[in-house]
Amino acid sequence: MTSCDERFRQLFDQSPDPTWIIEDNRFVDCNEAAVKLLGYSSKDGLLSSHPSDLSPEFQPDGQRSFLKAERILEAAMGDGIQRFEWIHRKADGTTFPAEVTLTPMTLDGRTVIHCAWRDITARKADETALQLAASVYRNTIEGIVITDSQGVIISVNPAFSEITGYRAEEAIGNTPRLLKSDRHDDAFYRHLWQTLLQTGQWQGEIWNRRKSGEVYLQHQTITRIPGLNGATAQFVAIFNDITELRRKDERIQHLAFHDALTGLPNRLLLADRLEHGIAVAERDGQRLAVLFLDLDHFKVVNDTLGHDRGDDLLQVVANRLHTAIRGTDTLSRLGGDEFVVVLTDPENEAEVAEVTERLIQAIDRPIELGGVMVHVSVSIGIALFPDDGMTVVSLMKNADAAMYAAKAAGKNTFRFFNAAMTRRAEERLQIESDLRQAIEKGQLELFFQPKICLASHLACGAEALVRWRHPERGLISPADFIPLAEDTGLIIPLGEWVLEEACRTLGQLGRHGIAPLKMAVNVSAAQFHEGGLEEMIRAAIERHGLEPGNIEIELTESMVMSDPDRAIRVLGKLRSTGFTVAIDDFGTGYSSLAYLKRLPIDTLKIDRTFVLDADADEEDAEICRTIIGLGNSLHLNIVAEGVETARQAECLAEWGCLMAQGYFFARPMPAGEFEAWLRGHGSITPDLMHQRKLNHQFASGQ
Ligand code: C2E
Ligand code: MG
Ligand code: MG
Repeated sequence: MTSCDERFRQLFDQSPDPTWIIEDNRFVDCNEAAVKLLGYSSKDGLLSSHPSDLSPEFQPDGQRSFLKAERILEAAMGDGIQRFEWIHRKADGTTFPAEVTLTPMTLDGRTVIHCAWRDITARKADETALQLAASVYRNTIEGIVITDSQGVIISVNPAFSEITGYRAEEAIGNTPRLLKSDRHDDAFYRHLWQTLLQTGQWQGEIWNRRKSGEVYLQHQTITRIPGLNGATAQFVAIFNDITELRRKDERIQHLAFHDALTGLPNRLLLADRLEHGIAVAERDGQRLAVLFLDLDHFKVVNDTLGHDRGDDLLQVVANRLHTAIRGTDTLSRLGGDEFVVVLTDPENEAEVAEVTERLIQAIDRPIELGGVMVHVSVSIGIALFPDDGMTVVSLMKNADAAMYAAKAAGKNTFRFFNAAMTRRAEERLQIESDLRQAIEKGQLELFFQPKICLASHLACGAEALVRWRHPERGLISPADFIPLAEDTGLIIPLGEWVLEEACRTLGQLGRHGIAPLKMAVNVSAAQFHEGGLEEMIRAAIERHGLEPGNIEIELTESMVMSDPDRAIRVLGKLRSTGFTVAIDDFGTGYSSLAYLKRLPIDTLKIDRTFVLDADADEEDAEICRTIIGLGNSLHLNIVAEGVETARQAECLAEWGCLMAQGYFFARPMPAGEFEAWLRGHGSITPDLMHQRKLNHQFASGQ
């Protein structure tokens, strides 16, 4: 070997790149680098092998290594240098990518191929990583925006377009302000930039606007990418649209705090609201009422009609309760047939009782469930803050206990937790049951209060006023039991008794030689609306040999004005028989003058409250004068109620009021006393009284 050959041999052997000589498609020589790369101990085992022997059976393109190698070697022999990538196999069976260069050359007069490998494992890995990154960038569902250091968009991925509606061409060159909504103030963006520049990253939720104009919520991470010198090279923002997610969250949140069946706040939210309510009430010195509701007989409905119908029923109940409370009150369902109402800032117990009564009435109406009429009722227990408890737990517990008391009291009713209040409610119940027996047991008494002719101070009539002599409670005022009698329907028999007794007394007075006077009898709304009033009164006077002119019916203004057309018919009938009619407590209701003119009535009774201060208060005096004027121009008698002083009587007489009634002249008295009083004071007959009225009208030019 020449020294030149020697040098080339060294060059060949010491080259860092694996190098081979191929002859007749077989490796005939190789250098140390090749032996080392393949992991062999010497080249002996490698020589005379075909390149495919040092390769896996197939190349990545699917071609058989042997055939592909043959083709490339042939091409190298024919066309010259070939450069390509090839997968080789090492001694241990692992493979690696190589860039192979085949160079045909002549050696000792024979054509051989110089084959050089470069291991491109690292380059391949980089390429793969880049491809992967690009694929992620293209395929991720997260929107990605890359801006330059000035915030100008230089690249966006397809998901960006998907979410925002802007195509890449539309976004590039713009800034992310393109997406800005008006949901955030300047401070928000200032803070974002500050954080981003200081910490290199900002993460958070931001409302942006799509190209379509729709505002949406995105969760976004913006990262500052530093360049070589540490200055910002780019900003990368990655975001996803979480609008739907947020909606779902809100739905879940709603479900967590609301009853699925009725949509009402559940126990958790109730506790929260109640706690808040207590804090407010405590701060503002207000009351708070917790009403614990439990349906009566719900189980029966549920068991007989099925759970679906039971659910329907609960929904109807929820709706009815809801419409019976104010917007500021909380209605919640605890589960099953239990509801709780929290009333904020009630004025007093009476107001709470009123709302509670309204809730009871709202449920106490039939409900149609799939063609079947069902009737349920509700029992309600009430606990008040601060009297009955200062905490959520104690108020709920006491309201619950009170609810059981309501159940025990016969259901379809309510109970206050407070013992005193419960006692009062029980008392009312007791009175109610006592009242039922009052008539039979002869506990009712009729008192009589004279009506006075103001000119002569003689009696010109009387008003019959009922009293109840209760065996334990003593004399009870009608103001205390008439409303109760009205509520319970007991007013009908009571009214009949009063009328009968009034007529009986009148008859008796006549037999005792007292000139017949006009007796006024109060009639309540229930009697008035029941019908048959005229027949009933007529029968009573006939029984006692009286004339219709002896009886005056007193009706309150509000009773008449609640249905004036009906009142006109009923009163017309009464008057055509000869009874006279007075409007009681006039001035307290809301009379329509148009109706007043058409009403078949005889007398207006000025309400006591105006007479009370008529001699001192100019406004009340004016009201009295107005009513008197009104009465005179409508040719009605005027009776002033509640005259307590001589001065009041003088004033009223001066203003043209002919009749009065009041403690100044006489208090209501039992029949015997009344008879004696009449004898002592003398009376004037209705006829004479009528004459006086005509004279008065003549004198005042009416
Ligand atoms: P009313 O019909 O307006 O009766 C007048 C009331 O004023 C009576 O009260 C009478 O005692 C009272 N009074 C009379 N003069 C004076 C006075 O100078 N000063 C004051 N402070 N009060 C005076 P009473 O008897 O307690 O009756 C209250 C109400 O109960 C009556 O008001 C009437 O609406 C009703 N009532 C009484 N008896 C009956 C009845 O038999 N049937 C019906 N349905 N209601 C009745
Ligand atoms: Mg009256
Ligand atoms: Mg009155």
